[in-house]
Amino acid sequence: MSVSTASAVAADQAVCAPLPVLGRDVTVPLVTGGEVTYAALDYAASAPALQRVWDDVAAYAPYYGSVHRGAGYLSQLSTDLFENARRTVTEFLDCRDGDQVVFTRSTTDSLNLLAAALPAGCQVFVFETEHHAALLPWRDARVTYLDAPRSPRQAVETLKRALAERDPHGPALVCVTGASNVTGELWPVRELAAVAHAHGARIVLDAAQLAPHHPVSVRDLDVDWVAFSGHKLYAPFGSGVLAGRADWLREAEPYLAGGGASRKVTRRTDGGVDVQWHDSAARHEAGSPNVIGAYALASACKALTEAGFDTLVAREQYLVAKVREGLADVPQVRFLSLFGDDAPRVGVLSFVVEGWNSSHFAAALSAEYGIGVRDGLFCAHPLVSTLLGSDPQTQGECGAPEAAPGEKSLNAIRVSFGAGT
Ligand code: PLP
Repeated sequence: MSVSTASAVAADQAVCAPLPVLGRDVTVPLVTGGEVTYAALDYAASAPALQRVWDDVAAYAPYYGSVHRGAGYLSQLSTDLFENARRTVTEFLDCRDGDQVVFTRSTTDSLNLLAAALPAGCQVFVFETEHHAALLPWRDARVTYLDAPRSPRQAVETLKRALAERDPHGPALVCVTGASNVTGELWPVRELAAVAHAHGARIVLDAAQLAPHHPVSVRDLDVDWVAFSGHKLYAPFGSGVLAGRADWLREAEPYLAGGGASRKVTRRTDGGVDVQWHDSAARHEAGSPNVIGAYALASACKALTEAGFDTLVAREQYLVAKVREGLADVPQVRFLSLFGDDAPRVGVLSFVVEGWNSSHFAAALSAEYGIGVRDGLFCAHPLVSTLLGSDPQTQGECGAPEAAPGEKSLNAIRVSFGAGT
């Protein structure tokens, strides 16, 4: 073994082992013949479920009953599991006393819920760099789209200027991501929250990409709300969270109207109905809840906390460095970043291979090597347009541009990883 190989192996051993996840040992056929163990490098889209989460769900799944609606033993058990899951998420996010944790379907669902709960006349401030889930739900409000900043400091200054010009009397909300789903870069959330509050605005953190990689403390970051998705946090699809201040949520009409959200429904003498809605999180959780989803999400929160974020971050930084090192010899590769290549980031990297159509490149990685990456525009069209310096060609919601090899890049490739990589 050469000296350099020996030191690489030593470095490999210095970081912790990946956490067991589903799908690690899946073999896939290659177009060149034979098969290979599949390498999932698309955690930012959906991370594989942790084995531990799957085991927890399997242990509970055969025994469920209705939540908040039954006197029977299994109903009681399910209700306890659902409410314990809420407590686990409350702790995971280090929420303040009085904060509410609402279970939703996803980050998209959570942000749409908050958009539906905005007080009348609310102004919304959002950077154009956001994922569409954070960019688009506010269209019924007065929205100010902020230009892409080129440094965390510029982000803070841009927000400061925009808020200084706002009507200081009305309510306002800032929506910001914690970590970009395109560049992986960390945003200065605490500083942005301080600016928002100094100008009498509130702030919601899109933690879809942050929560799987970093501890998120609502209290410490001083954000008013946080949203994230279970399927990016090593739980299965179908669960999400909106957590934070109770007042706007309590004053809003329920996101969905129906059983569970209503405390009392009475028939009026004029033939209509009067409804008293719950003031708790149940107000926005009408219908039979996704108790298995909430339970799985809480199980993932516990597993990550027990594994320790320090260890997970160290492993991810090691993997980021490895990807960069591996691609350093390919002169056509250009990494995409707003804040500079060395800016702190989570395990998400996007790049173009100049002269290549990224879609073809990504297809070849899958067909010839069994490596699953994401190609396209990552549901962040304005950001990718800024980063590519071209108007991306879109096809379908998230974009699958067509360009011949040799043409300017119209889309990009993303590799992303996490605790199971
Ligand atoms: N926000 C960010 C930063 C994301 O990366 C994503 C998904 O990729 C979302 C929001 C939307 O998440 P979901 O599709 O789970 O609603």
